[in-house]
Amino acid sequence: QPTILETNVDILIIGAGPAGLMAAASLAHLTPVPSASPLSVRIIDKRSTKIFSGQADGLQCRSLEIFDSLGFADRAWKEANHMIEICMWNPDDSGMIQRSDRIPDTIVGLSRFQQIVLHQGRIERFFLDNIQKYSGGAIEVERGIMPISLEIGEEYVKVKVRKLTEEEAAPPQVRTGSKSNVTDGIFRSNLVGDDYENKKITRERNGGVETINARFVIGCDGARSWTRRALGPEFELQGEATDFIWGVMDIIPITDFPDIRMRCAIHSANDGSLMVIPRENHMVRLYIQLKEVTPDASGRADRTKITPELIFGAAQKILKPYKIDYEYCDWWTAYQIGQRISPSFSHPSNKVFLAGDAVHTHSPKAGQGMNVSMQDSFNLAWKVGLVAKGVCHPRILDTYQSERRRVAQDLIEFDHKFSRLFSGRPAKDVMDAEGVSMAEFKDAFLKGNLFASGLSVDYGPSCLVVKNGDPGELGDRSNRSRELEGVHKITEEAFNAKQSLAKGLPVGMRVNSFKVLSQSCARPWHFQERLKADGRFRVVLFAGNILNRNQKLRVQAFCDRLSSPVGFLRRATPEGARIDSVIEVLTIHSAKRTETELLRDFSDILHPFDPRTGWDYNKVFVDDESYHEGFGDAYSNYGVDKERGCVVAVRPDQYVGWIGELEDFEQLQEYFEGILVW
Ligand code: FAD
Repeated sequence: QPTILETNVDILIIGAGPAGLMAAASLAHLTPVPSASPLSVRIIDKRSTKIFSGQADGLQCRSLEIFDSLGFADRAWKEANHMIEICMWNPDDSGMIQRSDRIPDTIVGLSRFQQIVLHQGRIERFFLDNIQKYSGGAIEVERGIMPISLEIGEEYVKVKVRKLTEEEAAPPQVRTGSKSNVTDGIFRSNLVGDDYENKKITRERNGGVETINARFVIGCDGARSWTRRALGPEFELQGEATDFIWGVMDIIPITDFPDIRMRCAIHSANDGSLMVIPRENHMVRLYIQLKEVTPDASGRADRTKITPELIFGAAQKILKPYKIDYEYCDWWTAYQIGQRISPSFSHPSNKVFLAGDAVHTHSPKAGQGMNVSMQDSFNLAWKVGLVAKGVCHPRILDTYQSERRRVAQDLIEFDHKFSRLFSGRPAKDVMDAEGVSMAEFKDAFLKGNLFASGLSVDYGPSCLVVKNGDPGELGDRSNRSRELEGVHKITEEAFNAKQSLAKGLPVGMRVNSFKVLSQSCARPWHFQERLKADGRFRVVLFAGNILNRNQKLRVQAFCDRLSSPVGFLRRATPEGARIDSVIEVLTIHSAKRTETELLRDFSDILHPFDPRTGWDYNKVFVDDESYHEGFGDAYSNYGVDKERGCVVAVRPDQYVGWIGELEDFEQLQEYFEGILVW
């Protein structure tokens, strides 16, 4: 009888797709925040390698902002295909497709990034490298491992895992397409030469079974999530499938269709719809409606009947009179549109959480699944990590469900509407009630673009977000909503007064980015670049016109309280740790840079002194003209008064948590008292 190996870990992540890798990367970045002992994190996946081609490919602005806060947006930005314009193609009076509209792919001015496309395998590669770098090798995906039981105890969640054989861990190759002899692609190498897999699997194991005692478990194991099922039927996905079947092909096209390098939404008169997504390495992804494949009596389509030839034949019909062919196909698949969501994203004990496809699935055409999945675990990981480190109060864990389930619900509704409009036959005229109005489709596309950017996310009130409105529901095993703990009670009037101090920084939304200059070296920075995802909260002091005598006194009074031993900054900082290790104070002032001096005009607490490294020159910024990169006009863009300024608290994930006057120190103190343990 082999003895079962038993190990303890702070956080166990099950599943190393985009959601799991985002969780691991975010946790790897929490090292600057001190704790009694280093955080131990493990991530397991039943597959023997990462994926190499196919699946998700669209990266929205918010995902790129997050990648930047983790330090690898530049890799994706360089390698990806950039999506600049969308062309709409509809039938004319004779039924022939024609270009009817062009719109920008990303709403202009929304973010410093625009939507790009790069396949999921590369994105997983960037994550793996980032995790290796920031964890110093301590966090590594352990492949070929699957959980077999999960038991939630008082102190630990006991997860029994089993090591799989090579054959068990390799997913089946589905089918061969005659044209380019390609399977459904999951294990094919892609076109980028440097993609490799470091197959490090081995941990000491006895008899192939191990019990992992985890303080927290994050289930990121995809649409058929084992973790979700282990939590019980109350977590099962709810929703419906439609009759619409779509095929997907990644090919290098040979065609006379003029917009093949644009993102296109094409509605043919009678042969269905098609979406063109131009990709990296000459490739194009085609999403193709399969009108000839219909679900059986059970409501499911027989996917074994779908071949690449059948899918491509449908594309050729839709694109007529244009011709399209290919020699190289990288990947293909088929899916039936449906929208499903789990009633609950976390176990009421707040010890087990679910993220990504494990709790929401929908059609891939709006390019949301991977983005929203990564953003789920980005929202969750710092909260779990900081609670595990003993820095944050466990009540913040409730905000994962209240914040992210609402986003998923919005996504499901958006996808429901969008996919029906896309799959419907275009209306012949205004009297054609069964057809889809192309004007309505364009309108949905335009509105959808804001949603699809990921930048419309607006978290409700909680202990982390001081605003008024609906705190959102928690849900629990008995389907009753639990109260969200520590929600700040603030009237609409009081909130509006606070929000008016910085209209361009809506509380509950992510900090938009404008350029500011370093006071010390005049280098322009996109302000968001200073908000790294390293687990630290930030207080942004808009110091206003620091050269005005009265304003200087106001700033000085704020800084005096900030420096006080009973103020939140010192109380939050553990003995012997750097003063900026839990909360970092960043300043943006609006006086002329050349008339202001860092050491003369700014209190020491705003650029703290370290005996080994001297003054900190990276914390004070100015809203002024740069030599080479223009004027960011940050105060105007953030809607902050240039004379009086204001104070903004920013969460570790770049969302605005609180806004107040320089005199509202007590309220800011209360905000942190509700979140941090000291
Ligand atoms: P997954 O990527 O499914 O990862 C789950 C991981 O868990 C896998 O590695 C799996 O091996 C592992 N796992 C599963 N079960 C177990 C277990 N029992 N034990 C251990 N490990 C387990 N999204 C976009 O954002 N943009 C797009 O353009 C886009 N296009 C798409 C196109 C297609 C054709 C498809 C199919 C999907 C597309 N998506 C897109 C969706 C996107 O792929 C998913 O939403 C995304 O991969 C979800 O990430 P995840 O980490 O939650 O789950």
